[in-house]
Amino acid sequence: TQPTSASINPATGEVLAEFAKADDAQVAQAVDAADSAFTGWSKTPIAERAKVIARVAEIYKERLPELVETISQEMGKRAREAKGEVIISSLIMKYYAEHAERMLADEPVETFGTLPAVVQRRPLGALLGVMPWNFPLYQVVRFAAPNLMAGNTIVLKHADSCPRTATVIEEIFAEAGLPTGAYVKVFASHQQVDDIIADPRIHGVSLTGSEGAGASVAQSAGKHLKKVVLELGGSDPYLVLDSEDVAESVDTAYEIRMMNMGQACNGPKRMIVMSDIYDAFVEKLRERVLEYSAGDPLDKETTLAPLSSQQAANTFVDQIERAEADGATVLAGGGHIEGPGAYVEPTLLVDVKPGTVAYSEEIFGPAFVVFRVESDDAAVALANDTDFGLGATVFSTDVERARRVGDEINAGMVFVNNVEESREFLPFGGIKRSGFGRELGPWGIEEFLNKRLVRVK
Ligand code: NDP
Repeated sequence: TQPTSASINPATGEVLAEFAKADDAQVAQAVDAADSAFTGWSKTPIAERAKVIARVAEIYKERLPELVETISQEMGKRAREAKGEVIISSLIMKYYAEHAERMLADEPVETFGTLPAVVQRRPLGALLGVMPWNFPLYQVVRFAAPNLMAGNTIVLKHADSCPRTATVIEEIFAEAGLPTGAYVKVFASHQQVDDIIADPRIHGVSLTGSEGAGASVAQSAGKHLKKVVLELGGSDPYLVLDSEDVAESVDTAYEIRMMNMGQACNGPKRMIVMSDIYDAFVEKLRERVLEYSAGDPLDKETTLAPLSSQQAANTFVDQIERAEADGATVLAGGGHIEGPGAYVEPTLLVDVKPGTVAYSEEIFGPAFVVFRVESDDAAVALANDTDFGLGATVFSTDVERARRVGDEINAGMVFVNNVEESREFLPFGGIKRSGFGRELGPWGIEEFLNKRLVRVK
């Protein structure tokens, strides 16, 4: 029997559907389809491509309830958050449909002599996307929208745990009128991902996921000389230098860390709080962390949803146990929640020492790790003492002070006196072990283009 990808509801453990994994012949067919579609799609006028992509944006809105239910049942997201994911995905599609023509316009460049020089932005061909489960629609759209508008075609390998979402995404592209082969999903194994990258008809690969997955895919891409974009993990610092209202600061920090049950690459995973407000901050946060209502993610009353899978819940609890063994103090939570489903307790950790689990590892779940610092310089040093460099947040009542501190932080995105947010026009991406390249905005469409120089006499 052929192996399958199972769609398991993490709130109940129930298997909702199973999909056959691709065999090697189907993988080859997927690459073939994307390659064959390239000539026609890349020569389709941009205005025509834009009509299709704008239609995808509309269909996301039309099929919102179904998409919300599918995403939520498949990876456990609260309904409100699944709705947010579908809406931002629709906005990204619309944004590239409306703006790609301008972004792709020929660019006259300064040159020597009398011959004019122009840089044209041309698509490369079929690309591979390897995408995760935490935002199973949005992560795909960030890659697919700009690249389809640029005229590239796509083979998409989704996380093994999200086959239903994968199926709906492909179906919607077809419904919008995208030519066959311009976007093909494939339930591929890691070995088959390597085979796809090795195929000369594939011209680049973009991955969002863990460092391990990124390193593996980048290694194959390097071996076969393919361009790669990586959006990996993060351990974003969240600095609170001072506050007029600690309770309000805690509420903001709490809400943003609990987004997607803490399973966001750009979640505030290390809270760095100035000494004079630290005790009040931790006390208030402990109260918040202890009050939750675990339940069905589709139920409006639910504040605590499951993690994406039982394995994710086990990994989370294991990390907390190792952190505690390393000397951290668990002030609240730390364990599984009894009963079916991948539920874990929101967890508050303090007394975390450099070099230990909670200091260095990315904890992908509802964990609050809070550090006490005595000065702005110490806050900056701690914020930068990480292998990651995705985003950072700095809060102060003195905006100049916050800006100064923000300026010292090594990250791809810095938010001063506001929380991290991803929008269609803003670049998203990191440095160091958080990856390289940028998605969204005009930057996102630049990654997989042939910037072709033309000089005509
Ligand atoms: P992975 O990074 O393993 O999965 C992301 C995608 O990469 C999936 O499609 C996965 O496929 C694929 N993949 C993984 N390894 C390889 C490989 N060697 N070759 C080819 N493709 C590969 O995420 P996990 O689910 O294992 O999550 C582990 C951790 O990763 C999280 O706890 C978190 O720290 C981080 N993460 C970060 C994300 C982000 O947004 N930056 C998103 C998801 C995870 P398959 O599902 O078949 O294994």
